[in-house]
Amino acid sequence: MSEPASTRALASVSLDLDDLWSYLKIRGDSRWESRPSYLPLFIPRALDALDEAGVRITFFIVGADAALDRNRDAMATIVARGHEPGNHSFEHESWLHLYSRAQLEEEVSSAERAISAATGARPIGFRGPGYSWSHTLLEVLAERGYLYDASTLPTYLGPLARAYYFATAARGMKKTAERSTLFGTFADGLRPIRPYRWRLGADRTLLEIPVSTIPGVKTPFHLSYLLYLSRFSETLAITYLRTAITACRIAGVEPSYLLHPLDLLGGEEAPELSFFPGMDLSGERKRAFFVKVMRVLGEHFEIVNMSTHARAILSRARLATRVPDAKAPVAVGG
Ligand SMILES: [Zn+2]
Repeated sequence: MSEPASTRALASVSLDLDDLWSYLKIRGDSRWESRPSYLPLFIPRALDALDEAGVRITFFIVGADAALDRNRDAMATIVARGHEPGNHSFEHESWLHLYSRAQLEEEVSSAERAISAATGARPIGFRGPGYSWSHTLLEVLAERGYLYDASTLPTYLGPLARAYYFATAARGMKKTAERSTLFGTFADGLRPIRPYRWRLGADRTLLEIPVSTIPGVKTPFHLSYLLYLSRFSETLAITYLRTAITACRIAGVEPSYLLHPLDLLGGEEAPELSFFPGMDLSGERKRAFFVKVMRVLGEHFEIVNMSTHARAILSRARLATRVPDAKAPVAVGG
């Protein structure tokens, strides 16, 4: 028998609604410009899988997708079926730390307008593409009345992810300043796993809910990671998840759990992305694994969307505060 909801620890689940074009764009593949999409296929499948798992989550939506007429009906179903829309920028460029204040204001507000118009609900949470963010971005979010930011990923593995990305990126892709800190630096591993408040100008603060990594070792356990392990052994992947959950419970960390479309889409459903790890698995197998992962998480935590989690965090004891440090671009291999 499960414990009453009020005494259970929470876990928030969110999905970054990255479309096919944004994956091509981040790799420097010019085919992105016609904005090829898998959303008409993906959104209904994701909503069905979430229903099967019995969870209501946050979808971080890209403004450019919400602005397209072809996506409007699918976007509206996200909210109609009980999920929260979040803001995942307008153009999905993973170098928000290089944007000026004016660019950030435009990026956040244009995405917010498009998402509100398409879904009927105004986003109050933000996640930067590729976990990119800056002090100015946080100021812009606080000024616009956002409840939380969810752009930080405290892990030491960012540079490894970047190396993998460059190794598989389109030919001729340059390690530009824009991409030199893609997926973060080693210093991101020093960031906290627990939620905290950013202390900003004019006495403003903004709640930060980091993407959870395993307390102590700070290795990820989001679904892409577990899927990778499941290719060797599903038992191994679930054991790893249970270890992560135990570490969270011992450390008193309520997870913020991250999903991506490729966690639920099979290789046959997005053939252009066959270079991604795990794209040799079928969509059916991935969705069954997802439902299993949600059941395991749900054994230990009450699964909620991010704004519900944010309000619960803010209603409890005092949070640590931090002054945002500059995320200075660090040259990687020139
Ligand atoms: Zn994204």
